[in-house]
Amino acid sequence: MRLVLLGAPGSGKGTQAQRMQARHGVPQVSTGDLLREAVAQGTPLGRAAKAVMDAGQLVADDVMLGIIRERLARPDAARGFILDGFPRTITQADGLGRLLAELRVALDSVVLMEVDAVVLQRRLTGRRSCRRCGRVFHLESNPPKPGERCTAGRPHDLFQRPDDNERTVRERLAVYGERTQPLIDYYERKGLLRRVDADGTLDEVDARIERALQRRQ
Ligand code: AMP
Repeated sequence: MRLVLLGAPGSGKGTQAQRMQARHGVPQVSTGDLLREAVAQGTPLGRAAKAVMDAGQLVADDVMLGIIRERLARPDAARGFILDGFPRTITQADGLGRLLAELRVALDSVVLMEVDAVVLQRRLTGRRSCRRCGRVFHLESNPPKPGERCTAGRPHDLFQRPDDNERTVRERLAVYGERTQPLIDYYERKGLLRRVDADGTLDEVDARIERALQRRQ
């Protein structure tokens, strides 16, 4: 399975990618997570990316393509992957196409997760992640269950991403509209796009994605 999850920030790409990873046994490849790891480790990439991310802007295409090239070369991606947050520009999509051609593989589908702008804003500002296990929650719609433990056997340690404040969220949504939305046409023309209504419970959206993947194009 080689998939791209496409959608605005807050459309649920990360959450669904985590669930699909567990179900299909192929890794979620989140460029946002890879960048946040680099920031946490204080690498040169992380130091350069932090200001860009905090402003809600996009990290440079050549940097992102380098990160993806390295990540897809790891053995766990040999049987497939779920790309979450990449590509985000036409240049990245062209670069991904060339990289996959080199690897002699192809994308199966691009799933577009469609959600209303008002819902997106609400989702992003209520979003929290666990510092230890990386799981993503929502204060209202998907809080940790009482007594639930994370992978280290301790309670989840929730925090809000620095770019999930209201102002940065507005900027990220604007950047999505300008730079990423053109990918919808791009992948539609290639016959790869499958649209999914991503407003619903996690299980509902999950089921819609699976149905969309089974539909013949
Ligand atoms: P995400 O976790 O996918 O919302 O990504 C968080 C931030 O990381 C974005 O707002 C960008 O600043 C940066 N980022 C993640 N993926 C990409 C990408 N493919 N291209 C450029 N910047 C990215």
